[in-house]
Amino acid sequence: MPRIRLSLMEKRAIEIIKKAGDNGVLQSDLWKILGTDSREGSRIAIRLEKKGIINREPTIHEGKKTYILRIIKRPPKKISIVTVKGCPCFTCPDLTRCGVGQPINPISCEKLTKWIIEQTQLS
Ligand code: SF4
Repeated sequence: MPRIRLSLMEKRAIEIIKKAGDNGVLQSDLWKILGTDSREGSRIAIRLEKKGIINREPTIHEGKKTYILRIIKRPPKKISIVTVKGCPCFTCPDLTRCGVGQPINPISCEKLTKWIIEQTQLS
């Protein structure tokens, strides 16, 4: 997934919406919490919706049209056993001594490097 650029206000808005959980936050409340105006609050919410981070559900609050903002929940990424099948670490006699910062480590391991290169050539 490509990295999404976010402004400081967008990041703050996301935190506020996240904290609200399933109930969501009214767009008309968000801009007040952010300390901005309704126009800027609306722009922030629209940008976050376009970036696929939140959804905006139309609603009426105190007789005025607004939106309920909620974080879009995504299913956890699936990791397939196929992606690690054949990795030399599973059968390596040095597994218990291998670690980042150790003399035996994944960064300098020829077996692991060779296996990763083979995997990239297969895909
Ligand atoms: S990185 Fe290399 S040394 Fe470390 S456990 Fe995997 S195969 Fe063994």
